[in-house]
Parts: sequence; C-alpha cells; structure tokens
Amino acid sequence: MARWTSCVVAAAIGLGAVMPVGVRTEGLEKPESGPFITRHPELRAALERIARGSASWRAALAAVTATGRPALVVTPDEVVVADPAGEARAAFDRSEVAAVSPVADGAGRVGAVLVVVNVDQIQAAHERLSSLPGEFHADLERVLAHEVYGHAVPYLLAGDLSGRCADPTPGTSAADACAIQRENVIRAELRLGRRTDGTLSSLSLARLLRH
Ligand SMILES: [Zn+2]
Repeated sequence: MARWTSCVVAAAIGLGAVMPVGVRTEGLEKPESGPFITRHPELRAALERIARGSASWRAALAAVTATGRPALVVTPDEVVVADPAGEARAAFDRSEVAAVSPVADGAGRVGAVLVVVNVDQIQAAHERLSSLPGEFHADLERVLAHEVYGHAVPYLLAGDLSGRCADPTPGTSAADACAIQRENVIRAELRLGRRTDGTLSSLSLARLLRH
C-alpha cells in the first residue's frame, strides 16, 4: 500500500467534532490517475465527468498533483472514530450530505484532506423523486465541486490550515463566501447552475430534504 495512506490512518483529525477519526484504507491505494482518490464507482465516475468538462478543475488537478498531497473521497461507511474503549464506530452524521476534514499534524501542516460524501442519502433521495440518472449525477457533481474544489483543493495547495476556504456565515452574503465562489467556477463550466445561497436548495434533491 502506498505510503500516504498510513499517514491518514495515524492522524487524529476532527470531522465536525473533537473525536479522533480515521478512514478505512483497504483498497484505497494510490492510483496513477491523480490526487483525488476514491473507491466508490459513482464518485469516481463523477470526478471523471467533472475533469472532462472543467478546465479549472483540470488545472487544480495538475497543481495538486505537484504537491503530492491527496484528497480521499469516501463514503460515511469508510469513516471510523475510535471511542475511549478503542472500538471503531461510525463518525459521520448521516443527516449531512457531505463534509470535509483536513488531516493536519500538531503544527497545522496538512498532509491530506478527507472528503466524505453521503452517496447513499443522495441516491435514495433521487430514487424517491424518480429522478433521471442525469439529475443524480449532476447533484454528485455539484457536491464534489463544493467539497473538493471549494474546500479540499485550497488546503492541499496551501499545505497547512491557512488554506481554509470558508462557507457563508449567518448574516453574510453566500455569494461572497470563498467556498461558494469556487464551487460556482466549476458549476459555470459544467452548466450546473449558479449557487446563490448557503443551503442545499440548489441541489435537485432539495425538494426532499428539510433544509
Ligand atoms: Zn462548505
């Protein structure tokens, strides 16, 4: 197994909480294809579609590749947290659509970024809506544009926690937020609509979510 995976296992990272979190790395070996790594076929296909359609994404891929730092794009099942008894248990809030966590050492250096996408939840919502496959695929692309290009890439390029690209905060304009602006760059190139708020209302599945 490639060396970078062990650094992720060993790292204590916070995923919306103060708990130490790890990611199951079996089968997550570094491919030749680039720094955004996943073993989920839908996520892999979505990453490939975005790369085909977006020049900005391809430029980011090249820049991140040069750093040697990966983004691990995983599903909630792959994220575990060790409780005080040393037992691994699920760490991801399954009401969330996605989350990003930089894997940083005590000095704030970021060696990798963990991107968690709740593919099952997104897919189930689309099945309830009887969506066309293209609508499900487009929502996955919107989520990855936000989480990977909006949040993960700046951390990976900076190599430390100064790469934080913020979400909108209450009372501020979403359009001014770093992560929304970056997401919209990719959306524009893929013709996925423009996000103008800090909620999930611009996803097709928003019709079923109570956000
Ligand atoms: Zn965000």
